[in-house]
Amino acid sequence: EGITIVELAKRTGQNINYLKQILTNVGEKIDTEFDPITVDVAELIAMEAGVNVRRLHSDEGAVLEPRPAVVTVMGHVDHGKTSLLDALRLTSVAAKEAGGITQHLGAFVVSMPSGASITFLDTPGHAAFSAMRARGAAVTDIVVLVVAADDGVMPQTLEAISHAKTANVPIVVAINKCDKPSANPERVKIQLGSEGLLLEDMGGDVQVVEVSALGRTGLDKLEETLLFQAEMMELKARINGPAHAYVVEARLDRGRGPLATMIMQSGTLVSGQYVVVGAEWGRIRALRDMTGKVIEKAWPAMPVEIEGLRGLPMAGDDVIVVETEERARMLSTGRKEKMERDRLRKAMEEKFEIPDASGEEGSERVEMPIIIKADVQGTAQAVTDSLKSLNSSQVSVNIIHIGVGPISQSDVDLAQACGACIVGFNIRSPSLPISLAAKQANIKICMHRVIYHLLEDMGKLIVQKAPGML
Ligand code: GDP
Repeated sequence: EGITIVELAKRTGQNINYLKQILTNVGEKIDTEFDPITVDVAELIAMEAGVNVRRLHSDEGAVLEPRPAVVTVMGHVDHGKTSLLDALRLTSVAAKEAGGITQHLGAFVVSMPSGASITFLDTPGHAAFSAMRARGAAVTDIVVLVVAADDGVMPQTLEAISHAKTANVPIVVAINKCDKPSANPERVKIQLGSEGLLLEDMGGDVQVVEVSALGRTGLDKLEETLLFQAEMMELKARINGPAHAYVVEARLDRGRGPLATMIMQSGTLVSGQYVVVGAEWGRIRALRDMTGKVIEKAWPAMPVEIEGLRGLPMAGDDVIVVETEERARMLSTGRKEKMERDRLRKAMEEKFEIPDASGEEGSERVEMPIIIKADVQGTAQAVTDSLKSLNSSQVSVNIIHIGVGPISQSDVDLAQACGACIVGFNIRSPSLPISLAAKQANIKICMHRVIYHLLEDMGKLIVQKAPGML
């Protein structure tokens, strides 16, 4: 298996001689332009040439076989996402055999007696979904939209719908809490209908299932519906050959070192192989399934945990297999250097940002300097991306600092120095001394847990700064 430099030039849109030069630089030799080079050398070259390497992974011509669906649960806070995932986890045959899954792996599989299975991502929420997508990892095949039967459509319900729509991922609606006397599933359906979801009851193709996560009712029906939806999508993957996967969660274990849970996309992953995960690398010392059992191999749509990485990757990082330790090191170093170059270039660009020339002569853009603090990196990134969407010919959003953790005195100092406001997302309210310091310095702190609310709030702030603008 391999690719020729001619093909590589075609796929990357780069000059052949330039690619050959890089090939020599990394110590590879070819006799003619039609000699194949291995995919990881090709990737290395592409990366050196500054081309997005994902484009190289192609399953063209490979035999594709049906694979299970990967499902994400979304919905408004308190509508029962976590409870539903817990209930679904318990329905799995494997879970029953293993006496329940106690470990949190970031994903689990429900296997049906029929032999079919569904993979659920175990991190409910929109931030995780958008963070993964922002990094190019399209892992989710189907979104389960949880709506509480007593509460109905709420802001995060709408947010979930728009996330799924933008990502072009079909929705299956689970109307939850149907055990409650105040439950009114019909009202929920009407609300969803008027939000543009074409439900099956109304002649559309969005399936709706009434469930109770607490009462454990409707779960079979939900699983059947998901299987049916998956069948219609004819999900397929290459089973043989080198593995490709995406990280859904990574953590540091005191005894075992960095552990990454990944969802297999294609190929077969084998224990002992060398892998490059984002900018990290390692040799798989142990491969575990979702029950914690050590396994030898993994196939598409399976969540697996790998042990043996040298560093901690990030959610959304892609996983590729390489032949040797040397290659793994080379790729990892190359990627780290590229990340550093990108970071520097971005910092320079932001420093010398040229005002938008498309605006009318003399019309000034309202500057919005912002400091973002969030619970985890993925959320911070998602918040940054959505705030940047406020940029227009009249408004210039300037993200001064992005951080993880509570709002600190140094954030307040920085805000004061730049005349910025502070956005706290999914974190605790600032302590009293910090709140007071901010108040004294006349710094606005916006605390939010819903992107939609945050954007609304920022919109108001912009109007305050420049009345008559929006
Ligand atoms: P999340 O924020 O969407 O993850 O919601 P949770 O799963 O934490 O559930 C929020 C609350 O709703 C909890 O108190 C649950 O016990 C309750 N809840 C979840 N599902 C059901 C259900 O099917 N019926 C009833 N009556 N309560 C539920």
